[in-house]
Amino acid sequence: MFCVECGKETEDIREGLCGDCYMADADIKIPSSLDIEVCTTCGAVKDGHRWIERPDMETVMLQRIDGSLEPTYKVDRYSFAAAFREEDRRNIHVELDVELETRDLKKSVIKESRIILKNGQCRVCSRVHGHYYEAIIQVRPTLRELTEEQMTTVKEMVNREVKVKRGDERSIFITSTEEKHGGIDFYMSDNGVSKKLAKRIAETFGGETTTSGKLAGMEDGKSIYKMTYSVRVPAYERGDFVVISDTIFQVREIRTSSGHVTLTNLETGEPVTVDRKDMEEAEILGDESIVQESVLVSEDEKEVKVLDPDDYKTRTLVKPPGYVTEGDTVSVLKHMDKMLILPRT
Ligand SMILES: [Zn+2]
Ligand SMILES: [Zn+2]
Repeated sequence: MFCVECGKETEDIREGLCGDCYMADADIKIPSSLDIEVCTTCGAVKDGHRWIERPDMETVMLQRIDGSLEPTYKVDRYSFAAAFREEDRRNIHVELDVELETRDLKKSVIKESRIILKNGQCRVCSRVHGHYYEAIIQVRPTLRELTEEQMTTVKEMVNREVKVKRGDERSIFITSTEEKHGGIDFYMSDNGVSKKLAKRIAETFGGETTTSGKLAGMEDGKSIYKMTYSVRVPAYERGDFVVISDTIFQVREIRTSSGHVTLTNLETGEPVTVDRKDMEEAEILGDESIVQESVLVSEDEKEVKVLDPDDYKTRTLVKPPGYVTEGDTVSVLKHMDKMLILPRT
């Protein structure tokens, strides 16, 4: 048989052509240049609508090339090997050795292209630089200002949670913090994390949370809200001594969910549960540091005689129910003209 194109005599004929003539117009096309957008800040590269962090550039370039190759109609399969040569920081010369296959025939072609690295800014970096935030966690004192200890606890809680949640997810970060009105504001990149944190802060301090949202615009046809989670930290903590209507109480438990506060009436030794609102009238005396030790002079079943730790005068105090003295001092709490024995817990 003869090839109708070149006249070669061969038995290997398809559609009247020899192998070489059949493959003559089998080819593959590649654009003369391919752009890859690289984030100038973190080095992430853009892949369609996505950004790939810490990319393996070789893989990215190979995928980019593969996605842009256009074989002609005769090619059934192809494979290629690529050689990259950096011309300068932005331009990479590409030489491709492509093997085209059709039926049982093969043909090799050499192609050239260029990869151009373009400056870009990934979504996360543009958010970090653009003061992006989805929510504000507002931590506020009920009175004057948060104590240094409360401030530290809150900061640690927020930093720890963001660090944990962030992991590989760089989109979770604290945009900024502002100390104001005796409290602190955290501008947060992530709403879900903020919501959880606000709840946890409230639980830690027995505070109250209010939520508000502000329409901040539209994105992909959806309304975008910026949320504010405001946590009001009460002025008292567990263990604090407070005065309500001339009676001294110690705070035992603060329940955030129900808004109830359990107190011990130090004058009767009885527990009482009040509403968070009732606590707004409480005068806060302080924590365990205001407890004083007074020297025990004598005791009977119902009373003890002790020395007032301030003026060393003898005073008679009623024992709380079930109270047993231990050692030669008694823990007492003084407020105004009152002096009470502190029950053991
Ligand atoms: Zn031929
Ligand atoms: Zn970036």
